[in-house]
Amino acid sequence: MSEKNLKEEHHSSYRDKLSTVSEEGKRVWVYPKKPKGRFYNYRKLVSVFLLALFFVTPFLKYKGDPIFLFNIIERKFILFGMIFWPQDFHLVVLSLITLVVFIILFTVVYGRVFCGWICPQTIFMEMVYRQVEYMIEGDFMKQKKLDKQDWDFEKAWKKSLKHIIFFIMSFVIANIFASYVLSIDKLLGLYRDGFTAHATFFIGMTIFSGVYYFIYAFFREQVCTIACPYGRLQGVFLDDKSIVVAYDYVRGEPRGKKEKGDCIACNSCVNVCPTGIDIRNGTQLECINCTACIDACDAVMDRVKKPRGLIRYDSEKGITENEHKIMNPRTIAYSVVLLILLGVVSTMLFLRTDFETTILRQRGTLFQKYGEDSYSNIYEIEFVNKSRKRHEVAIKLLEPEGKIVMMTDDIVVEKGEIGKGKFLTVLKTSELKSSRTILKFGLYSDNELVEEYKVTFVSPRKKE
Ligand code: SF4
Ligand code: SF4
Repeated sequence: MSEKNLKEEHHSSYRDKLSTVSEEGKRVWVYPKKPKGRFYNYRKLVSVFLLALFFVTPFLKYKGDPIFLFNIIERKFILFGMIFWPQDFHLVVLSLITLVVFIILFTVVYGRVFCGWICPQTIFMEMVYRQVEYMIEGDFMKQKKLDKQDWDFEKAWKKSLKHIIFFIMSFVIANIFASYVLSIDKLLGLYRDGFTAHATFFIGMTIFSGVYYFIYAFFREQVCTIACPYGRLQGVFLDDKSIVVAYDYVRGEPRGKKEKGDCIACNSCVNVCPTGIDIRNGTQLECINCTACIDACDAVMDRVKKPRGLIRYDSEKGITENEHKIMNPRTIAYSVVLLILLGVVSTMLFLRTDFETTILRQRGTLFQKYGEDSYSNIYEIEFVNKSRKRHEVAIKLLEPEGKIVMMTDDIVVEKGEIGKGKFLTVLKTSELKSSRTILKFGLYSDNELVEEYKVTFVSPRKKE
């Protein structure tokens, strides 16, 4: 069969329905065989590292604050120990946009590597919940048998134990997620206060735990195949140069024990698939690139003494034309956008100061005569304190010579708060060079200059 015909035949076998939904529209439960092999071992290492990071991070602090916090309720964010207050929200949004562009670019070039190796859903499902299931119910054949058999003591204790452990794990995970929003100290404080003091919180946590439990006990791979928007976008992101987990149909077909293709139709790759698909049908939106089928097929190839890699990381072009170039106009365009965004975000982070001052002449006012030989202007000041401590702000006129008369109380600003005040600036006519004199204010905290601010002082036109 020519390569063209092979490709057409291969493409004609693409399925237009979900593998986990039967013809009647019913759920087909997936029982994946426990994977083993080279990639699975690497994935386990990555998962252990990421899980440790997930559980330990809420306990890490910098200068008394958590190093990561996503308090969407109070709009306070901490990234790598750097605090972002509501006034910095644009930076958080820009950082998130950069992250999204990065994921898109990464997907265009390397396919769904994120799904298989980093996505929390895959890690929790495959490396945590599924492992407990294998331990209690055994591998896929035993699980099938257990589900088919009538309720007896064995089925009752295995199912009960599994679901109790699943719920406890969901409760722990829900709490760790909550600690990223509230901080671990606040979370532990709520537990110390007890149920009656924070009933709403505890009811919320029980609901969240229930949702996690439902996802990992029942909804499972459908998060990736039905719910996840990132999965839905694969058709847009991927092209024939994207690196994905792919079956080399040029080498593998025609399949079968007596055929000359390398695929012996043993179904090992299908048995291990956690989303229940056959990778030999081609790249499919259900494939989370978990690499389980690569390991399974490599083991078969070893047995039949054929080269490994019948299923491997490769692109469509790599398989058909042996072309492994990954840069194309689309990846170059995304890279340029990503570099620009990274530049903008880093510059903004670099230039970000702990304080932000705005001083404006009071709306609707110009100047006032002040005594015999002076004029005054009224100013309103807004002082944003983005630092980690409280500041008592003093305003001094640095240039030209003149005096300041506070019209409001001293400006005392708590961390993350905005302080406001009003004051009068008085200049002698001898200091006025024109009708618009530039003033330079200094803002001091603990006698230390923290900000300088320039603003105009208006006065009548000087007579020539
Ligand atoms: S594991 Fe390899 S040889 Fe076996 S069916 Fe899958 S592709 Fe063919
Ligand atoms: S096809 Fe292979 S890589 Fe894709 S989800 Fe199934 S086992 Fe994982």
